[in-house]
Amino acid sequence: MPFGILSVTSELHPLIKTGGLADVAGALPIALAQHGMDVRSLMPAYQQLLRTIPKLKTVHSYKALFGGPARVLAATANGLELFLLDSPSLFGTRDGGPYGDLAGHDWADNWRRFAALSAVAADIAAGAIRGWQADLIHAHDWQAAMTAPYVRYGRAPNIPVVLTIHNLAFQGRFDANIFPDLGLPASAFSVEGVEYYGGVGFLKAGIQHADAVTTVSPTYAEEICTPAFGMGLDGLLRGRGDALQGIVNGIDTAEWDPATDPLISAHFSARSLGRRAANRRALEKRFGLKRGKGPIFAIISRLTWQKGIDLAIETVDHIVAIGGRLIVLGSGDSAFEGALLAAAARHRNAVGVVTGYDEQLAHLMQAGSDAILIPSRYEPCGLTQLYGQRYGTIPIAARTGGLADTIVDANEAALGSGSATGILFPSSSGESLKSAISRAVRLYSEPGTWQAIRRQGMRSEFGWGRSSARYAALYRSLIDRSHAG
Ligand code: ADP
Repeated sequence: MPFGILSVTSELHPLIKTGGLADVAGALPIALAQHGMDVRSLMPAYQQLLRTIPKLKTVHSYKALFGGPARVLAATANGLELFLLDSPSLFGTRDGGPYGDLAGHDWADNWRRFAALSAVAADIAAGAIRGWQADLIHAHDWQAAMTAPYVRYGRAPNIPVVLTIHNLAFQGRFDANIFPDLGLPASAFSVEGVEYYGGVGFLKAGIQHADAVTTVSPTYAEEICTPAFGMGLDGLLRGRGDALQGIVNGIDTAEWDPATDPLISAHFSARSLGRRAANRRALEKRFGLKRGKGPIFAIISRLTWQKGIDLAIETVDHIVAIGGRLIVLGSGDSAFEGALLAAAARHRNAVGVVTGYDEQLAHLMQAGSDAILIPSRYEPCGLTQLYGQRYGTIPIAARTGGLADTIVDANEAALGSGSATGILFPSSSGESLKSAISRAVRLYSEPGTWQAIRRQGMRSEFGWGRSSARYAALYRSLIDRSHAG
């Protein structure tokens, strides 16, 4: 019998996505099926989703769930088995995204929305859905983290919970006055419970109560145990000791395959790199660049401080001065958007910027650029460096978190042994980014070297094979322990 695994997530590609969490939540369940895991994904039934998913079946209902009627709907979409939490008052039509309005303000009732998602996960653990039983729950990020206390204080306290932290910066911190409405026992409002600096901390509560905590790369797992990266939670994380581990994210290698990708202009492989040229020309056209020989540097990112976008903005003139071009796709901080658009206006033929979210353009940029810039101040895993390597776009990245774990810097030794896949620079400062870009332009001027780095990245194994096996091993050990206990 396969194990029943309930994956709890607030986003899931291709249904709804704001970042890497969605990619993982969409791809990991499919990879886990090969390890004897029957994964069901519980997520909110955002109104726009309901219109796109056929054959919804009600498998559980609530007269009142956090203030309104709700149902759990079962469905199959994109090869995934889903449980959708349909609650019009919590996830009904709103002008904005899954977490906030169009101006970027969080929805005021986020605590209620994601406490409800987590409480429903605990109900499913306790057998709410006839014909399907979870042996373990895998909760993702603060939006699902309250699953751990709800399970622990609920009717099935022995079901193991794994919490994965995709980004420690988003913690779900709320005022203490929400506590009475969470439906937890009074004793849960304590330092060993959900209390956090006088309020309620969803991620904190998850870290405290989960049987195992994972994060999305080994280096980030070490970093978050230090005050510099721990964002106030490093003490608690250190205290979890061996229960914390890093498992690097994989990518969906079927969807991100330059030999078959329907979203790019021309297909290619490591053996037919010449065919990339058509993608490069498509990019020059799309971004209004003059056709040229200089390397095209790309940024595909949320435009935020974490991603070091301010550092990239500082280096635009340098990139152009040394013969490079820059193309940017992103949305986020309006000051960064403005500065990038101003840079594009200043360097009309060499810098192009598209603001907003565009999945197709993201694929084309990976297929036609020469390098992708990722000057992150911290990076739990990062996916764009993996897509870049798979598509022959060489990552130039800060040596932090998952970037450090998935890129082999083109130093002399790595170039000599043929293992280099990118360029890492020591710390996230404008100066070090600038010198990394200069290093890239030098390597680019030696076509044999550049192509060798490109090919090495394209040959690297970034699928879910190894990492899904690690998750499966973790699940098995926790389920065995819970049965023994
Ligand atoms: P994070 O999850 O911190 O935003 P990741 O690198 O882990 O960063 O994942 C980002 C994902 O979102 C990648 O799949 C990337 O291609 C995609 N992405 C980011 N910004 C955009 C955008 N503006 N348009 C299309 N895709 C984007």
